[in-house]
Amino acid sequence: MSCRRCILPSSDGAGLNSARDVKSEIRNPKSERSRAGISRRAAIGLGAAGVVGLAGAVSLFDLFSKWRESEAPADIFKGDAPSGELWELWQKRGWVKEGRHYLKLGRNVQCKVCPNNCILEPGDRSHCRNRINRDGTLYTLVYGNPCTFHVDPVEKKPLFHFLPGTRTFSLATSGCVFRCLNCQNWEISQKKPEETKDPRGEELRLRPPLPASLSLDQMSRLSLFPEDVVAVTEALGCPSISYTYSEPTAFYEYTQDTCQAARVRKLKNIVVSCGSIEERPARDLYQFVDAAHVDLKGFDEDIYQKLNAGKLQPILNTLKTLKELGVWFEIINLVVPTYTDNPDTIRRMCAWIAKELGPDQPLHFSRFQPQHKLTHLAPTPVETLLKARDAARAEGLHYVYIGNVPGLEGVGTTWCPNCKKAVIERDIFAVTRMDLTDGKCNFCGTKIAGVWKT
Ligand code: SF4
Repeated sequence: MSCRRCILPSSDGAGLNSARDVKSEIRNPKSERSRAGISRRAAIGLGAAGVVGLAGAVSLFDLFSKWRESEAPADIFKGDAPSGELWELWQKRGWVKEGRHYLKLGRNVQCKVCPNNCILEPGDRSHCRNRINRDGTLYTLVYGNPCTFHVDPVEKKPLFHFLPGTRTFSLATSGCVFRCLNCQNWEISQKKPEETKDPRGEELRLRPPLPASLSLDQMSRLSLFPEDVVAVTEALGCPSISYTYSEPTAFYEYTQDTCQAARVRKLKNIVVSCGSIEERPARDLYQFVDAAHVDLKGFDEDIYQKLNAGKLQPILNTLKTLKELGVWFEIINLVVPTYTDNPDTIRRMCAWIAKELGPDQPLHFSRFQPQHKLTHLAPTPVETLLKARDAARAEGLHYVYIGNVPGLEGVGTTWCPNCKKAVIERDIFAVTRMDLTDGKCNFCGTKIAGVWKT
C-alpha cells in the first residue's frame, strides 16, 4: 500500500485517480534551521515564568499533575513556523485552526494532545511538524488539507470484527507524533504540511459530484473540510470514515470535527492510531469514534524509545480508556526481528491484554518487511509469528490473527471460541465466507465479539 496516491473509485469500481506527493516550492527559508529541542532547564524556566492563560480544556491541576512530562519536552523545530506569504496563503485556504488542549505559558505554548507535550516559543514548529506557535497561540496547519485519501476495505485497517466486508473512506494529513524506524508511511508521516500541500493557485474543494480524476496539481491545492469529507463519503457509499495512514493524533482538530460531522449523518468513525495521546484529548475525541485500531508496538519501554521514539505506558493507558469508553478496538503488533520478537516479552504482552482487556480482545500479529531505516533486517520469519499466535492463545485470547503473510492458510480466519468452527473466512482483505447471524455463530449460537451491523 502506498500513501502517495489518492484513489477514488470510478463508476466501474476501479481506482482512477492518482497524485504523487507534492513538494511545495514555497519553502520557509528558516526550515533548514536547527531542530534542537529546548532543554529541561529551559522548560522549567518557561513554566515557572508564569502561566498566564489556559487554552482548550486544560486546568491548573493538569498542569501541575503532569509536571513530569512538562520537564521533558519533545524535540521541536526551532524557528521553523511558516511566515510571510506562505502563512497568509495557508490562512486564506482555511488550513489553519487554533489548536485544542494546550497551555499558554506567557508567549510560549505547551501542547497537551500527546505525551510529547511540546513546548513552543513563538515561531517554533512542533515535534509532529503540524503545529506552530504564532504570537503566543498554538495553531494546527493541517485542518482540511489531507495529503492522501483512498477507499479501502475495512479489513485493511485491519479491523476484522467491525462491519466486515464494507469499504471505508480513508484519509491522512502529513505528520506524526512518533519516529518509527520501520514506518511504512514515512513519506507522509515524516513530512511537514508544506511538503505535501501547495496553497497557491485557484482554490479547490473536493465535493460531490466527484471528478473522474485529479491531477497532481489539483491534489496539492485540494481542500477537504469536515463537511466535505462527510459528503464525499456518502457519495461513495461508504458507511465509515477512517483517519489513518499517518497519525490522527497529529491532525487532532481535523479528526475531531470530522468525526462530529460524520456522527450527525450517521456515518461511523474509525481511528487508526499509535495510541500515544493524553487522556483528556483521548476522551474528547473517542466519544465520537466507533472503532479504533491501536498499534501496540511492543511491550518494553526501552524498545519503544529505540524503535519508535515513544513511550509504552501512555499506549496501555489509551487501551484501558477505550475499553472503559466502550469503543470497539483491535490491537496490532508488528513483530520486528531483534526489536519486538522476544518470546517472553510477547507472552507478557498477551497476558496483559487478556487480563486488562479480556479474552475477546482481537490481536493481530503483523509481519515486518524491511523498510525506511530498517532495510538491513530480514522479514519476520513465519515461525516467529506462529509462535506469537500460539502464545496469545495460550494466554486465553480468542481472536488472534497473523497479517502480511499472503497464502498462509487460516491465519485470517475468525474461529468460534466455543465450537471452534470457522465463522468468518478471509482471503487477505476480502471476506470469502461468513457464518454469523446477528453476531452469533451459526453452528452453536455463541456471541462473537464485535460490531456487525451499521
Ligand atoms: S500532538 Fe504534536 S504538538 Fe502536540 S504534543 Fe504531540 S507532538 Fe507535540
